[in-house]
Amino acid sequence: MDCPHCGLINPDSAGRCDCGYDFPSRTMQKPYTAMETCVKRPTVEPPRLHWGWVLALRPLTGGLSDYVLLIVESNWSRKMRGKSAALPMSIILFPAQVVLTVLLRLGTGSPSESAVLWWPIAGALLWIPNLLTLRGELNELLSADVPGFSLSGPMSVLLGPVYFQYHLRDYQGTT
Ligand SMILES: [Zn+2]
Repeated sequence: MDCPHCGLINPDSAGRCDCGYDFPSRTMQKPYTAMETCVKRPTVEPPRLHWGWVLALRPLTGGLSDYVLLIVESNWSRKMRGKSAALPMSIILFPAQVVLTVLLRLGTGSPSESAVLWWPIAGALLWIPNLLTLRGELNELLSADVPGFSLSGPMSVLLGPVYFQYHLRDYQGTT
């Protein structure tokens, strides 16, 4: 049957044309396709913790507060986007860093080589890909909130979760 409104040929079983013409009631309604695309993903509140707290907790937790915040932020990305490559990376970051530090030390064969040296090297190898992955995901979300917004690459690597938190705190959502 042809739609009397737009002329589009519809299957006889069609209840409503793409243009929105409703065959049973012969009235103009919202098209089904537009209704589907209009369904917004619900905005999930980001972690509102002030970044200053994370800085303050750093010395008290031996830096572990940063690892925890990274997981929290990655988890928000997963909730908002439905998936997140950063989340599994963030979860295994700390244990992976321990393992990599041990492996790097074994390579030197010297017991005098301190973890103080290898810990930051192992960290950089794991942190940087992790932070850049999360940066990409957060950019996608934050630029939907504030058009043209982009997290700085160097700042993301240098300050990581604290820098992300500084921006996440202001996230208002797209509704
Ligand atoms: Zn039509």
